[in-house]
Amino acid sequence: MGKPTGFQEYNRELPSKIKPEERVKNYNEFVGRFSDEKLNQQSARCMNCGIPFCHSGCPLGNVIPEFNDAVYRKSWEEAYEILSTTNNFPEFTGRICPAPCESACVLGINKPPVAIEEIEKHIIEIAYERNLVKPGAPFLKTGKKVAVVGSGPAGLAAAAQLSKAGHNVTVYERDDKPGGLLRYGIPDFKLEKWVIDRRVDVMKQEGIEFVCNTEVGKDLSMDELTRNNDAVVLAGGSTIPRNLPIPGRESKGVYYAMEFLKQQNKRVGNSPISDEDILATGKDVVVIGGGDTGSDCVGTSNRHGARSVRQFEVMMQPPQARTASMPWPSYPMVLKTTSSHEEGVERHWGVNTKEFLGDENGNLRALRVTDVTWETDFLGRPVKFTEVEGSEREIPCQMVFLAMGFVHPQHAGMIEQAGVELDERKNVKAQEGVYRTNVSKVFACGDMRRGQSLVVWAISEGREAARKVDQFLMGHSLLESKDAVNAYEY
Ligand code: FAD
Repeated sequence: MGKPTGFQEYNRELPSKIKPEERVKNYNEFVGRFSDEKLNQQSARCMNCGIPFCHSGCPLGNVIPEFNDAVYRKSWEEAYEILSTTNNFPEFTGRICPAPCESACVLGINKPPVAIEEIEKHIIEIAYERNLVKPGAPFLKTGKKVAVVGSGPAGLAAAAQLSKAGHNVTVYERDDKPGGLLRYGIPDFKLEKWVIDRRVDVMKQEGIEFVCNTEVGKDLSMDELTRNNDAVVLAGGSTIPRNLPIPGRESKGVYYAMEFLKQQNKRVGNSPISDEDILATGKDVVVIGGGDTGSDCVGTSNRHGARSVRQFEVMMQPPQARTASMPWPSYPMVLKTTSSHEEGVERHWGVNTKEFLGDENGNLRALRVTDVTWETDFLGRPVKFTEVEGSEREIPCQMVFLAMGFVHPQHAGMIEQAGVELDERKNVKAQEGVYRTNVSKVFACGDMRRGQSLVVWAISEGREAARKVDQFLMGHSLLESKDAVNAYEY
């Protein structure tokens, strides 16, 4: 522990952010950096408590008290080494992780938790500045060939680990640039794309080959891929969005969130846009879905210059603080106000959309909605909603974004050709911790296997799947595992 009394002396602080009215003028990141003194104080708040619950809160098993201590001592190389042992891409998680580690921080029981995520971001940015992030070279090349399909965080993590183990790795990506949802989902104002390019450059120098503009199952058959490789890792994400099939769905102006977000990221990245422009400029926008994807649509609509932005959620407003059903150290489902919300939005909960209303030309002009109340079970979980009588009304709007999550991966093409079994949620079936599908030498990880999730989980699954592939190819693996107990289990 850096400073035994640090948690008593210093309060939690976060770096300053550019004011909302300024930052909505562009798509740049807007969170500043800690001064040296502040970074030192924030790391000093870690108590090195006897049982660091933050480790288990983090899906990667990040060794948090140790890197906080190294940061306190300004031992940058050591801090970077500790962090990179468990996390291939702290520059992604340090920017966009919802930080379940902080929810599990022991200090968080009665004080604001340690600012772990910001400390993580500072460690990796300082490491890049000091030229500590260098391409790694394996001791031995194994001569084995592995294909990774999908270059999101799961595919990238699997590729990085497999290359470290000495295998020849090729990543196939159907988009024009690598990154998955990091590139073409999460807006630039949360994660600027040079951050991905910088990491992909390091990976290329390590010998990993990236083949973009190539959809496996269409441009390259699954059969050819399995024939030419010793193992294949499917990391294609969960890409089929949940629809709202109510009357008027075909109205012009109703889009899936990803149609809007992907196009805007392409615009910022100077990539060609083949579809019609989706611009919220001057429009009254309604975002249906109260989660993170919806929040990204809010931030992007404000940057387009929408006239008004509303966000509707059918569930009731979550509580402001932990309740008895979400005790520490679990991740609490409390009300979250994101930086995009700070920039301007009217948020409504308990609203059910019943119809999209179009004008004579088929353009969206309004929504027909009602308020709802929820019946809950004995654990307080919502079971059934009832419409509030007399609450039906029209909400004028010309653009709607459907941000209600993703149901499962795309089955047509790669998955069908591979012949892999699906689980009851129609994701690729491969047991957690094993990652092997029913098809010989084919593995699966990330959202394609676990369903829509988080970047930190995708990285974790990519790493763990890589270790299983390495064991499959070599009989054993020296790659790190977050669960050392399983190190030699196969
Ligand atoms: P993906 O990132 O989806 O990558 C899959 C890749 O595979 C894609 O590039 C796809 O083009 C490619 N692919 C698919 N099929 C093929 C094929 N047949 N051939 C070749 N390539 C193929 N999580 C967070 O932790 N924090 C956030 O702030 C956050 N914000 C989000 C915002 C949005 C708008 C969305 C949609 C998600 C967000 N998430 C966030 C969730 C997070 O992005 C995902 O959980 C994560 O990216 C999943 O990683 P993945 O590698 O499994 O899949």
